[in-house]
Amino acid sequence: MPTDKGAGETTFLLEGGIVLPMEGDRVTYDPGSVLVLDGIIAAVGSVSDVAAHPASASVETIDATNRVLLPGFHNCHLHSGLLRGTAESLALWEWLENHIDPAHRAMTPEIAKAASYMAYTEGLMGGTTSVLDMWRFMEGSAQAAEDVGIRATLAPYTADRYDYFETLETNRRLLETHRVAADGRVRSWVGLEHIFYCSPEMFRNAAALAEEFDTGIHTHSSESIWEVQECLRQFGRRPIEEFYNRGILGENTVIAHGVWLDDREVQLLVQTGSSVTHCPCSNMKLSSGPARVGFYRDQGMTVALGTDGEKENNNLDMLEEMKFASLLQKVSSLDPTVGDPWDILDMATRSGAEALGLDDATGTLEVGKDADIVMVDLGALHFVPVLHGSNFNVPAHLVFSASSHDVSDVWVRGAHLVEDGEVISVDVASIASNAQAAAEDLFERRAALKGSTPSPATDLGKNQ
Ligand SMILES: [Zn+2]
Repeated sequence: MPTDKGAGETTFLLEGGIVLPMEGDRVTYDPGSVLVLDGIIAAVGSVSDVAAHPASASVETIDATNRVLLPGFHNCHLHSGLLRGTAESLALWEWLENHIDPAHRAMTPEIAKAASYMAYTEGLMGGTTSVLDMWRFMEGSAQAAEDVGIRATLAPYTADRYDYFETLETNRRLLETHRVAADGRVRSWVGLEHIFYCSPEMFRNAAALAEEFDTGIHTHSSESIWEVQECLRQFGRRPIEEFYNRGILGENTVIAHGVWLDDREVQLLVQTGSSVTHCPCSNMKLSSGPARVGFYRDQGMTVALGTDGEKENNNLDMLEEMKFASLLQKVSSLDPTVGDPWDILDMATRSGAEALGLDDATGTLEVGKDADIVMVDLGALHFVPVLHGSNFNVPAHLVFSASSHDVSDVWVRGAHLVEDGEVISVDVASIASNAQAAAEDLFERRAALKGSTPSPATDLGKNQ
């Protein structure tokens, strides 16, 4: 579904904006500029400093007045999906058994691909330039990411206790063909569904597979109190201790949620260099609880931000997620001083890139890095007043006032993928109609499945 418009020039000057490079200690250039040459950031700084670069005078100039320029967002926990708004306000076991797991059983490669096109396009329009997606039949996701122009790290939903997920064998095949694709913009990792979907042997094999391909591991953990209690009952250890024993923690491991971590688990994650993706909206919607992300960060853990899927959010709006991240910290600690906007922006940008091991290439606006840039238009009424100097309020505007609709332009590696709110890499209307048809197909197929789907919900959830 790519358009014939192409992404155009990757050499340009963004001039006169409010630049938040997200490096150093709250560095701000207001007004500032970013010079991009062949998709790489060649200069970033004050308008006059960047104008002094020899190339600045001869390249296309884009006026960034009253716009914020910041690094693209890394959505570090996402599921492509088509169940938006269809299974609301349910207890966990009913949600899993009757809605989510049967949808996995009914899934086809075509349906899965349509979902990825939709998810990546929706994310891109809101400033997401990189996703860590746990999904199915991910060769289609790779194609979607390549066409949409987004960075994607693909982690299949693998499991061996139930037969309707991906397996380490299908994960291996994905790694063989897509370990690195689209000139490095698309990468594949090893994915693991939840601990109760996978045997201990599978965890060890997953760790070996990740080592063999020198790649990362993504899984969920410590999302609910029940999960911790069940893990203690089954294995005699808390989830992260069990993960440590099974050998899957390390610098290339990203754990989604990490809500209920005790101090020893936090230390295990810090010592092994593992990262956590905080998903505040999902954690509130599924009544999982508040993660102590301020504490985690203080302990030296890399904490990224993620929306989780369309079924537990119900959008993929990273700016909205930032607001939830801050507010959840405030209300759970009864401390209004936590959840500082700069810290939240860091989680969505620099820390996200670090969690994904992409921080050499992206995550900040620094010379030599790829030009993954988001431009947010501050022209709407809900940003008034925009203040500069000692009253500077733009970070607070981004976290508390902005939403994806305020994103005007997005570049990945200097390719202009969203221009004035319009996606130019792919045709949004056909992506939407394909996703609509795929969802209707999925619901028909799911309804045709007779009987309940075996799942941890059936096996465990109802016993508690
Ligand atoms: Zn998830």
